Amino acid sequence: MSEVRWKKIEEILDEKRTDETVHLHGWIYRTRSSGNIAFTVIRDVTGTIQATVKKGNLPDNEFEDAKKALIESSVELKGIVKEDKRAPEGYELQVKGFNVVNFAEPFPIVKDQSPEFLLDQRHLWIRSQKLTSILKIRSTAVGAIHKFFRDRGYFEFDAPILQPNQCEGGSTLFEVKYYDNKTYLSQTWQLYAEAAVFSLEKIYNMGPTFRAERSKTSRHLSEFWMAEMEAAWMDLHNVTEIAKEEVKFILSEVLKHNKRELNLLKQDINKLQHIAESEFSTITYTKALEILNEKENMNVQWGKDLRTIEENKLMNHFDTPIVVTNYPLEIMAFYKPKDPDDPKTALCFDMIAPGEYGEIVGGSQRNLDVEDMEKKLKESGENIENYEWYFDLRRYGSVPHSGYGLGVERVVAWICGIDNIKDAIPFPRTILRFRP
Ligand code: ATP
Ligand code: MG
Repeated sequence: MSEVRWKKIEEILDEKRTDETVHLHGWIYRTRSSGNIAFTVIRDVTGTIQATVKKGNLPDNEFEDAKKALIESSVELKGIVKEDKRAPEGYELQVKGFNVVNFAEPFPIVKDQSPEFLLDQRHLWIRSQKLTSILKIRSTAVGAIHKFFRDRGYFEFDAPILQPNQCEGGSTLFEVKYYDNKTYLSQTWQLYAEAAVFSLEKIYNMGPTFRAERSKTSRHLSEFWMAEMEAAWMDLHNVTEIAKEEVKFILSEVLKHNKRELNLLKQDINKLQHIAESEFSTITYTKALEILNEKENMNVQWGKDLRTIEENKLMNHFDTPIVVTNYPLEIMAFYKPKDPDDPKTALCFDMIAPGEYGEIVGGSQRNLDVEDMEKKLKESGENIENYEWYFDLRRYGSVPHSGYGLGVERVVAWICGIDNIKDAIPFPRTILRFRP
């Protein structure tokens, strides 16, 4: 078998070489048979193609195997390429050889099963057209993030996953037994990234991030991947502009490489193309409240964070992602500084996606005022001794610096138009699920 040149389905369909004999391996996606003929649809990573198996065209035992083989059986075929207007892709294979590599047992997943069942069967459901398409888009997005930063002179920098401190609030920490001690899984790389910008200046990373989220929402996972950047000598405005460029770059890479997958997911490619070419607006939190008040008749008290419902209503008025800056200082984490021009607010931002996808990026300029940070940490019950090393960063050649984190699954969910973030990661972990 070693000399066989296995073709991919996409190659066969692109080349359109009628009457060529090809070898193909893959899995049975659909199959039906009657009497002396079996119609199978074969899938591989690149697509699907119809393969017609007629008794007499191949050895009898292989014909019987083809009739017997259930969906998801793995197969090796030899066939002749034929144009066929009735076939979904316009071409089909007339099968001359049908070798079943593994006869699948009856596949547990049939049509219209509940999301929970599909999550229980995730190890099998992962081969569905839907998840395969999403995972390909995810792979493009991840590649795009690396390319984006590397092309702009950023260094990839890895922070520890086991961390002794919180950075995003103690309530979502995952505690880990650490020999005779305890430590936590990373909620963000940020504090360590801030240490590194005083040498590497511009850095990025994409890594697993853990938050023990208590609420069940369609946009929170307990384990997710965050793409973060941090840079010395940059202010809030600089990083919001980089975040906009990054999101547009991810989107344009997906549009370049994954049209087929976007079509399978029934995404509107023109609409996405338009977003990739548009300016994204920046507004303040205060302006967002005005829009909610004037256009949605919603009164949000100044000082309250924007909830999902408010973010969704706000996005009725924008067809691209937008950046919202200057949230109320009071409700922001200790590392977000006061805006000297508007002291009730912080130099921070969220990027919100259109539709009902909510926040996809969060970031800020970083607080340089040790006393202010100590006060805030104490108020939230933290032992400030644990942060001494972090305060040192302000004591030895500190400079203004800023950074942000982009939620990989949030961006993938938005680009793919899927209604739950769980489908944007291969094996989701949430408060209710950590298997399979
Ligand atoms: P949210 O208000 O939605 O909980 P956050 O303010 O806690 O978000 P940040 O701490 O700013 O989020 O994290 C940066 C980015 O990481 C977010 O913009 C989002 O895209 C992503 N993110 C945060 N928490 C989660 C989560 N639990 N699951 C998936 N992605 C997340
Ligand atoms: Mg959160």
